[in-house]
Amino acid sequence: MKQAHTRQDVVRLELPISVGEFASKLLGWYRENKRDLPWRDDPDPYRVWVSEVMLQQTQVKTVFPYFTKFLETYPSLEALARAEENQVLSNWSGLGYYNRARNLRRAAQIVCEQHEGTFPRDYRDALQLPGIGRYTAGAILSIAYQKPLPIVDGNIQRLFTRYLKIEREPNQEVTEGLWQLLSRMVEDPAVTEDVSDFNQALMEMGALICIPRNPRCSSCPLAVSCVALKQGLQTSLPPPRRRKGIRQLHYTVAIAVRGGRYLLRKNLSRRLLAGFWEFPRVLGRPSEQSPRNFRRLHKLDLKVEQEVEIVTHQITFRRMHFHPLLVSLRGPVPKKNFTWAGLANNNYPIPSYVKKIAEILK
Ligand code: SF4
Repeated sequence: MKQAHTRQDVVRLELPISVGEFASKLLGWYRENKRDLPWRDDPDPYRVWVSEVMLQQTQVKTVFPYFTKFLETYPSLEALARAEENQVLSNWSGLGYYNRARNLRRAAQIVCEQHEGTFPRDYRDALQLPGIGRYTAGAILSIAYQKPLPIVDGNIQRLFTRYLKIEREPNQEVTEGLWQLLSRMVEDPAVTEDVSDFNQALMEMGALICIPRNPRCSSCPLAVSCVALKQGLQTSLPPPRRRKGIRQLHYTVAIAVRGGRYLLRKNLSRRLLAGFWEFPRVLGRPSEQSPRNFRRLHKLDLKVEQEVEIVTHQITFRRMHFHPLLVSLRGPVPKKNFTWAGLANNNYPIPSYVKKIAEILK
């Protein structure tokens, strides 16, 4: 394999075999081994779009029930565009990374306003939509409209890192080199006609065969030409990334219950869990200062009755420790951004850590 630098310092990557041979091995394997996934029955752009957004940062087996339920609730792009944001977030609850849901709904509205309700066929138009980057645009347009566009995600990058034996630490130049290699590959007539299957086959290979630990090389259709396998490097590539440290955060949470309903507060921040309804919480572990902190931050006058078991919940690189306190209220609750609600109420999107705490209280 040859690796050289262009003037833009993008690593130029080359296949060890012809594109035609690569595609034929890959497609042959895919057609025999592809999984039966609900979004594969009907490659309608809306269905492909929802599946691709849900699959970002989330595994197929987790997405499965959410995808089916979401499509039942919002069977068309128009139905999603008309939905209230709160409802969409509720239906997304448990999948995490809620900006994906906000962007999906907002983009559906733009598609209705500017593209007559049909996902745009033009790559540049697709990239204008919120939440759509070049991976998602390439995936939707290649799978739903057979446009010869490349896709590179973490799984595909890992596959090529081994197949081509890229020993450098993953960086921008290598990733760009891979985008360029795949752009050239999808332009090849051996791929262009089958680009939908070709891209899905790469995804499937990364998910089933060239998996993060212990790749299944004995079942790999590309094994004969895999450079890492030839040199016994298949388990040591890609080189490990330096891990970002996990941040530990502690919150004191006030739980007031009235007639089977909980006091919830809308999260008005622009960051973590924005727009969700949560138990009122303040930063830090419970202490004698806690009632004063709730008064200052939430204008709630409360008395601590009992401490409850801690609930830990991890979101990306934050490990959040919630210290619930059962409380009684000694004064009125502010009208704005507070409500009393049951946790099954779909009008209020509720994050999963709140549901975990409520389970403990049962
Ligand atoms: S032979 Fe092994 S390491 Fe190489 S691409 Fe296939 S699964 Fe990955």
